[in-house]
Amino acid sequence: MGNAILFADVQVFDGTGRDPFPAEVLVVGNRIETIADHVPAHLREGADVIDGGGGVLIPGLVDAHTHLGFGSTVEHRSLRRDEPDEEKALLVAHAGRVLLDSGITSAYSGGNRLPRTELAARKAFAEGWMPGPRFKAASWEGSAGMRSPGVYEFPGIEGRESDPDSIRAFVEEMADLGVDIVKLSLSGESAVVAGTSRIVQFTEEEVAAAAEVARRRGVWLTAHAHAAESIKMAVRNNIRAVYHCTFADEEALDMLAGARDRMFVAPTPGIIYANQHEADSEPEEGMEVEETERAVRAVVPELVRRGVRVVPGGDYGFPWNPVGRNTRDLQLFVDWFGFTPAEALRAATQYGGQVMNMGDELGLIREGYLADLVLVDGNPLDDIAILQDRDRLAAIVKNGSFHKLAEGRRQRVSAA
Ligand SMILES: [Zn+2]
Repeated sequence: MGNAILFADVQVFDGTGRDPFPAEVLVVGNRIETIADHVPAHLREGADVIDGGGGVLIPGLVDAHTHLGFGSTVEHRSLRRDEPDEEKALLVAHAGRVLLDSGITSAYSGGNRLPRTELAARKAFAEGWMPGPRFKAASWEGSAGMRSPGVYEFPGIEGRESDPDSIRAFVEEMADLGVDIVKLSLSGESAVVAGTSRIVQFTEEEVAAAAEVARRRGVWLTAHAHAAESIKMAVRNNIRAVYHCTFADEEALDMLAGARDRMFVAPTPGIIYANQHEADSEPEEGMEVEETERAVRAVVPELVRRGVRVVPGGDYGFPWNPVGRNTRDLQLFVDWFGFTPAEALRAATQYGGQVMNMGDELGLIREGYLADLVLVDGNPLDDIAILQDRDRLAAIVKNGSFHKLAEGRRQRVSAA
């Protein structure tokens, strides 16, 4: 047998939302081999035995909206966005390690400034010689009228320079590079350019053109969509993930419900909280921070009621909302949206595996599933906030290998 790890004396939260249960979990190679009250001697022989200390073992967490390339993490604040490409590449690599340190073992990129760098990071993380999560890489953020990455204008349909052909060419170019995801900012963003969140930035023809190329080339589309009409456009055009979803009206909610088997919504509470409370300057009127919070707190319970899969990922990577703060989203799911801690964790694990399009092998603690696991010192179902304390993450395993193991947890290699 390959490398084997036995987690002993743990409570297993399996990701489905059911109550934790006491068990031992045996990992062999990169998969979960056995879950049992007591793993039999012939199976545990030679395994590295980890003392769970009665803590809760959860599936590795999945984040659906992080920007590895925006430059800021909890360890490093980057106030500029015009670093040379070489420095940006290092920032992406750094952010990948910080994500793993936070228990995020899979990430679905929210868009970036250097697609080639995300692709290189995806490869390095997958090969395992550079610490980082399983990763779905994105295009640069293609806003209508945006001529270069990172320049946000949101001029509205009238003021932009794109047309169906240029959008088609953009999706083709990104597919040629090999991205998993092409991001389209279908609405503006008031937090960046005041008063633009409710302004649609693309025509129906452009989004349909993007969808046609995406389908043919096998890439996914993600929509940045605050405005109700932009959300409807996303549903009509087979977009896979909708970010924000802030000003969804009844019709948009019902359309999302109808598409719930093929779509995900990431409402990004993290950035909304940070815009209000942690930005360097006071929010200005046109940023709509209070309206955004109020609207999203009303919308998300309606989505949940309609069976839509709502997933965490709070737009991390900005100086005031750095990578590494990701698990605060789970607390905001509880505090703002009325999730139980178990529901919030399920959104980050079972639904997370589905966001990664790996739901049949990722996101659950189940025999045969990939061994992405986090051993929590304590019970996050009693207090979801403990996940924000890295010291409480006693072990982090990705693909069957330790990224982290706290001192004193490793017992002898098991003879029997
Ligand atoms: Zn974002």
